Amino acid sequence: MSRAMRNDTDPFPACGHDHQRCVRAALQRAEALCARRGVRLTELRQRVLELVWQSHAPAGAYQIMEMLAGERGRVAPPTVYRALDFLAEQGLVHRLDSLSAFVGCAAPGAPHKACFLICTSCRNAVEIHDAEIDAALASCAASRGFSIENETVELAGTCARCQGSDTDASARA
Ligand SMILES: [Zn+2]
Ligand SMILES: [Zn+2]
Ligand SMILES: [Zn+2]
Repeated sequence: MSRAMRNDTDPFPACGHDHQRCVRAALQRAEALCARRGVRLTELRQRVLELVWQSHAPAGAYQIMEMLAGERGRVAPPTVYRALDFLAEQGLVHRLDSLSAFVGCAAPGAPHKACFLICTSCRNAVEIHDAEIDAALASCAASRGFSIENETVELAGTCARCQGSDTDASARA
C-alpha cells in the first residue's frame, strides 16, 4: 500500500478517485450558496460550473464554449464569459491568469486568498490555503507600501505522482 503517496499531505486528487462525487458536491455547494445569497444560479451558470469541474485541470473559456456548443449548438462567447464572471464573483471558481483558465473552488463559502500548485504534467491544479503564506505576502507587500489587488498565487511545477512513484519501493525497504 502506498501510504506515502496517499497521506493527507498529498493534496493532489488520487488517480481514479470518484470524481463524480467532487462534481456533485460542488453543484450542491453552489446551489446552497446562491440560495443563501439570493443570486440566481441559472441553468447555464450551473452547466458552466459543471464543465469547469469536469476535472481538476483548469479549463479555458474557449474549451468550455466548445463543450457547450457540442451540447446545445453555438453559444455566444459573451454569454459564457458572463457566466464565468458570475461564478468567479461568487467564489465558485478561481481564475488562473497564468493559464487563462478557470478551476472550481472546493471551499467557496467565504472569501479567501488562494494559492495554487499547478502540475504542468497532469495539468491538475490544487488549491491550498496557508495562513503563513498569506501573512508573509501581506507583510512583504505592506513593508513596501504595496497594495495587493489580485491575491491568487500560482506555482507551476510537477506533482509528486508525476515525478514518478518510486515511493512504493522506498516504503517497502
Ligand atoms: Zn475529483
Ligand atoms: Zn478557493
Ligand atoms: Zn501531476
